[in-house]
Amino acid sequence: MHIVIIGGGFAGINLAKALTNEKGITVTLVDKNNYNFFPPLIYQVATAFLEPSSISYPFRKFFAGKKNLQFRLGEFLKVIPTENKVILNNGELSYDQLVFATGAETSYFGMENVKKNAIPMKTLNDAINMRNTLLKNLEKAAICKDIRKRRKLLTIVVAGGGPTGVEVSGMFAEMRKSILIKEYPELETSASNIYLVDGGEALLSPMSVASQQDTLEAVTKLGVVVKLNTRLVDYKDDTVYFADGNTIQTKNLIWAAGVTAREFEGIPAESYGRGKRMLTDTYNKVNGTTNIFAIGDTCLQLSDENFPQGHPQVAQVAIQQGITLAQNFKNLLQVKPLKPFIYKDKGSMAIIGKNKAVVDLPKPNLHFKGFIAWMIWLFVHLISLITYRNRINTFYHWMISYFSKDQSLRMIICPDKKSKEEIV
Ligand SMILES: Cc1cc2nc3c(=O)[nH]c(=O)nc-3n(C[C@H](O)[C@H](O)[C@H](O)COP(=O)(O)OP(=O)(O)OC[C@H]3O[C@@H](n4cnc5c(N)ncnc54)[C@H](O)[C@@H]3O)c2cc1C
Repeated sequence: MHIVIIGGGFAGINLAKALTNEKGITVTLVDKNNYNFFPPLIYQVATAFLEPSSISYPFRKFFAGKKNLQFRLGEFLKVIPTENKVILNNGELSYDQLVFATGAETSYFGMENVKKNAIPMKTLNDAINMRNTLLKNLEKAAICKDIRKRRKLLTIVVAGGGPTGVEVSGMFAEMRKSILIKEYPELETSASNIYLVDGGEALLSPMSVASQQDTLEAVTKLGVVVKLNTRLVDYKDDTVYFADGNTIQTKNLIWAAGVTAREFEGIPAESYGRGKRMLTDTYNKVNGTTNIFAIGDTCLQLSDENFPQGHPQVAQVAIQQGITLAQNFKNLLQVKPLKPFIYKDKGSMAIIGKNKAVVDLPKPNLHFKGFIAWMIWLFVHLISLITYRNRINTFYHWMISYFSKDQSLRMIICPDKKSKEEIV
């Protein structure tokens, strides 16, 4: 059985890993990047607290020595189900079973100016781009004589009050205290505001009320201006516009507000549900197809009675679906009954700053905050990294930051555009 997996994020890589050395099964994993990366920590790359290699790993190194797994760098374009064939931007592949693990991409809710001008936070490229943009704006501010222009360069607006928005604004607030004053003496007397805006009534909306309140209190204490019930409607000419008529002038709008899946040619239109996610049955088979599956963020499964509206788009769902589908491919081969997917919710968490985090555990219903939650967050994120090398690297950088209250990764390194275009 030849299984083609499109996408090597949490879902795809866990599926491939669980099929390692499985007799009768060969796997080709296709990804448009040649590395797997860990999205929950990209904000630390974006704020220059980790280097990209701490949270990423090349697929080919990961697959080395695993004889039934191979990697193909390429971008998936379309599927021809009648021929069991996928078309990539650099060739084609035949499959017996096809799995979409393509995740989601940033959604700007149709706001073209925001898409054009804001700084997204979804991929490792986005993180490096954000680090460069913010560092360049600091350098520009350091030599800017015009107070209004300087304020625009130093003001940061983070859109989206989910874990990423909270984490990144908390990190900026701490950097302002510990690094800005030390390294940019020219800016000592300048005002630099950090805003965290969200259209909803609370930060971290899927978490417990206790976590929401603790987070609001903690980020406010750090000096972040939180604006709730505030819908962003446009961003142009360095001005963020809100539905209530208010505006904020800034050169730095960070977009952490939404994601959407992608529709692909060859999949019937009626197989898509909310957020362009592929509707699947309880075994992750895409509705209206015979041998095409979807797992992770790109999948919408309504059969789990605990999640009748579909699962949340989080790492644990993607990991567990990848592992269950691997078991089902083995069962298929051995003519055994398939296992329905049932999500085991292990809880949710967010970090706010040094020694500050919130954690909700579902069973038993527990809420932690402060240092203990921070330790849980660090431990869970560390052990979730893909290899020992990533874990050691990240732990090392965290220790340096913790004890020195600093990092030394603030280099502006911009690969030229052409070299990126040549990759795939
Ligand atoms: C900034 C950020 C922070 C997050 N923090 C958390 C957190 O703290 N906790 C948590 O549980 N979840 C978090 N999430 C959500 C979590 O990362 C996702 O739920 C998870 O990554 C989904 O896994 P996936 O495998 O479905 O997709 P992804 O991990 O997104 O992987 C998709 C893969 O498909 C590839 N791909 C996409 N399109 C194509 C194509 N056309 N051709 C070839 N390859 C393609 C991509 O390159 C990528 O490697 C966060 C997400 C982001 C963006």
